[in-house]
Amino acid sequence: MSIKIAKFGGTSLATAQQFRKVAEILLSDNERIIVVPSAPGKRFDGDIKVTDMLIECYGMAITGDDFKKKIDDITQRFNDIKNELGIKVDIDSEMKTISEDMRNGASEAYVKSRGEFLSGKMLSALLGWKFVDPATVIVFKNSTTLDSVATYQNIKSECKDQKTVLPGYFGADGDGEIVTFSRGGSDITGALAAAAMDADVYENWTDVSGFYMADPRIVENVRHIEELSYEELRELSYMGAGVLHENAIFPVREKGIPINIKNTNKPQDEGTYIVPFSKLKKHELSITGVAGKRDFSIINIKKTSMNSELGFARRILSVLENHKISLEHMPTGIDTLSVVISNEFLKDKEDDVIRDIKKAINPDMIEIIPDLTLIATCGHGMVHHLGTAAKLFAALYENDINVRMIDQGSSELNIIVGIENDDYEKAVKAIYHQFVQ
Ligand code: ADP
Ligand code: ASP
Ligand code: MG
Repeated sequence: MSIKIAKFGGTSLATAQQFRKVAEILLSDNERIIVVPSAPGKRFDGDIKVTDMLIECYGMAITGDDFKKKIDDITQRFNDIKNELGIKVDIDSEMKTISEDMRNGASEAYVKSRGEFLSGKMLSALLGWKFVDPATVIVFKNSTTLDSVATYQNIKSECKDQKTVLPGYFGADGDGEIVTFSRGGSDITGALAAAAMDADVYENWTDVSGFYMADPRIVENVRHIEELSYEELRELSYMGAGVLHENAIFPVREKGIPINIKNTNKPQDEGTYIVPFSKLKKHELSITGVAGKRDFSIINIKKTSMNSELGFARRILSVLENHKISLEHMPTGIDTLSVVISNEFLKDKEDDVIRDIKKAINPDMIEIIPDLTLIATCGHGMVHHLGTAAKLFAALYENDINVRMIDQGSSELNIIVGIENDDYEKAVKAIYHQFVQ
């Protein structure tokens, strides 16, 4: 019998009706042996995800505000689902414990992990499957590093005999303190479960029928991608195509397990397969997809003959390191060097960073260009199709989009351009329509 691990995202578990769809999918195929649920997500446009409500609640506890109303809202959210499903889970007492833990100084990681925890409890009650607390199986060496050897062993021994519900997004360190992955991290838990069980496929169920060549909220009737490689998925996810967490690739790539993105609301659709490069069919188009991420800044630095000055780049990078800033790209010329940084890292530090770079390298000119969007046009096909860059820049030029930065990785898997935030959607549409007629 082949083995399938199924992860369901927040929209797939937002209401009782969605829970029922999930149960039907799981029970329709005996090969689905582990399910990894997210916390309930948005029920409608403008709704708030349970994880965001928990984060808000934690913020109130920290500032000493009364969070009772918030806890009541979250309790209501779970009770609505529970009551409609007619299952037995004591949500009230679970939420009471969380409130008490918060009063006793519970960590943010603990609080924001409770959405997945309760979602898992409910799904376990609905399916009659075993509930495994991720705090007992997903092992972190510290607050950021996973112990994958221990994690795989634990998942294998806890989940081998019975069908299991393993909530996503979190685990615990050696002291039993809860540690979460970054946002969207239930995708990683699903990938770990797939790798641990040597699954034949990792199914990732969401609210769209797979990966599209561009964000379907931006491009109408956008073309579906049947298949893409792990590398393409990673590039596109990292650059904003939020379907799957970019780090979910690593555990499955090690074992060559394909990922199948599927739609909970249309389970009959094939979805998208994410496979190793070697198994990829040939691409008819030169690009696989286009994605974008807002809110970056570029620091442009100019100094005559900088390319012949030893240690020049190192000194700039040391300044960034001292300010705990990680950089995204670093395009260079003979006399110029630019660093592209997410605004999130540069916030409130601009003046200090500029001062320190001036001190370190005494540049002829230094400036910051704020509020840029990075757009990645991506695909293995680029290597084989002439004129990809020409087409890309023609699309931007014809749509009056000013390009402030260009970077192409050595793998020729993508071309990244920096444009004004305001041009984001226009650029995605322009590039997409240039390549897909
Ligand atoms: P889940 O809650 O199931 O984890 P996410 O919100 O993380 O779902 O991811 C699914 C969403 O990703 C879709 O609803 C879609 O709007 C968005 N998305 C962005 N870019 C793309 C793309 N290129 N292809 C498909 N979906 C995309
Ligand atoms: N619930 C978490 C989040 O909203 C994790 C996840 O859904 O994957 O980020
Ligand atoms: Mg997600």
